[in-house]
Amino acid sequence: MTSNKPKIVVLGAGYAGMMTTKRLTQKLEAEEAEIVLVNKHNYHYQTTWLHELAAGTLDPNKVRMLISDVIDTSRVDLVHDTVVEIKKDENRVILENGELEYDYLVVGLGFEKATFGIKGMEENAFSIQSVDSSRLIREHIEYQFARYSSGEDTNEENLNIIVGGAGFTGIEFVGELAEQVPKLCKKYDIDRKKVRIINVEAAPTILPGFDEDLVDYARKSLEFRDVEFRIGTKINECKPDAFVVGDDNEEIKGGTIVWTGGVQANSILGKSGFEIFKGKMNVNTDLRAPGYENTFVLGDCAWVMNKETDRPYPPTAQIAIQEADTCANNIAALLRGGELEEFVFDNKGTVASLGGSHAMGTIFEGKKLYGKTARAMKNVIDNRYLFMLGGPNLVLKKGKLRPF
Ligand code: FAD
Ligand code: NAD
Repeated sequence: MTSNKPKIVVLGAGYAGMMTTKRLTQKLEAEEAEIVLVNKHNYHYQTTWLHELAAGTLDPNKVRMLISDVIDTSRVDLVHDTVVEIKKDENRVILENGELEYDYLVVGLGFEKATFGIKGMEENAFSIQSVDSSRLIREHIEYQFARYSSGEDTNEENLNIIVGGAGFTGIEFVGELAEQVPKLCKKYDIDRKKVRIINVEAAPTILPGFDEDLVDYARKSLEFRDVEFRIGTKINECKPDAFVVGDDNEEIKGGTIVWTGGVQANSILGKSGFEIFKGKMNVNTDLRAPGYENTFVLGDCAWVMNKETDRPYPPTAQIAIQEADTCANNIAALLRGGELEEFVFDNKGTVASLGGSHAMGTIFEGKKLYGKTARAMKNVIDNRYLFMLGGPNLVLKKGKLRPF
């Protein structure tokens, strides 16, 4: 059925897409606009928990929820399809199984791994990008343990898990592995000493750029639980069974190889002819694509400039959620003829889990948190998002309610 109402199409049901859709249903009257949300799966997932799924410490169904359970389907048309291209000059989106026209477009298609052209990385390394890609990692690790335990594979090096990149994703992942590997060793009757978790980082420190005290705390906490770090070690190539590193092309062997060395905007933006700068798109302060007054680009697809530092904010779930508010306000302003607002980031801090009850981070004006307090705060942050999205029922269903 076609309507005469302006049509808002939201691409991607991640943090940015879900919260924009939710806010649009709250800010607009039903007769003001038709809202369509397109996603490749019928579920929304918590990207910030994927490292737990990948390590095997969290069940896949805890990470995801049916979109129709949290979005008001009397107000929003859900389209379960994959975006192929945005015809930005024709106000059309091409999907795998059809196409959509729009008056206003919100792009929240998230990130893809960036491999920077490193030979073999694309083909040989797993990555933590989606529920499915993360589930593969968990299955593969267990497969390696089962093969070794059964005697089918006698090569001990295949038990090694090697992780490329010690940014927040890499560090949170090895933290979960530090908790999970001892359990798998027990399950498969394998000596824990035989399994190495090796995190390789090109910079001279893990978590480059982050607070030194907290970095030091994280490193000690992880090394205490037998995570090995190779810092100042650049990965030049990824073979099916090894990272090739450093000036002398040393091989670090492993049976499970995971790349957490960087992310970039969904490649659909570049393929659709939008200008990409250092992997993402520079957007205006009102979050619109330069030159496209009806198109907003949010979350991991976008660089939003911090006027104070003249550098873009690092894209995170926290910022994606806040951008959704500004985007919904600005679409309402366009529909009603008001002024558009500038996006201003309210930085609430950064907290990273290190597995189990371990965590560290900063909140508000740089207050540092360590250990169980930090871990509890991480749960509060994650549960707060669920509350904003689906109220107390969603927190009860999908939240992290046990302390650790
Ligand atoms: P996403 O959440 O990635 O959502 C994109 C959506 O688009 C997905 O639903 C996807 O299925 C859909 N999609 C993709 N392609 C298509 C297509 N072609 N057609 C249709 N649909 C499509 N940030 C924090 O602030 N705090 C944290 O603690 C934190 N932890 C993290 C832990 C991990 C392991 C990772 C990987 C990231 C973490 N981040 C964290 C960063 C954060 O997850 C991202 O910045 C955030 O997910 C970006 O939100 P988004 O809405 O732009 O994209
Ligand atoms: P990142 O870009 O932050 O980190 C990638 C790391 O890989 C860097 O330390 C880089 O030096 C290293 N690297 C790159 N090329 C390499 C090579 N050839 N050899 C060895 N090391 C190499 O990527 P990420 O960790 O996936 O994070 C992506 C975004 O998500 C960031 O904005 C981050 O802040 C956010 N995030 C936040 C949290 C949190 O707040 N708890 C958790 C995960 C991710």
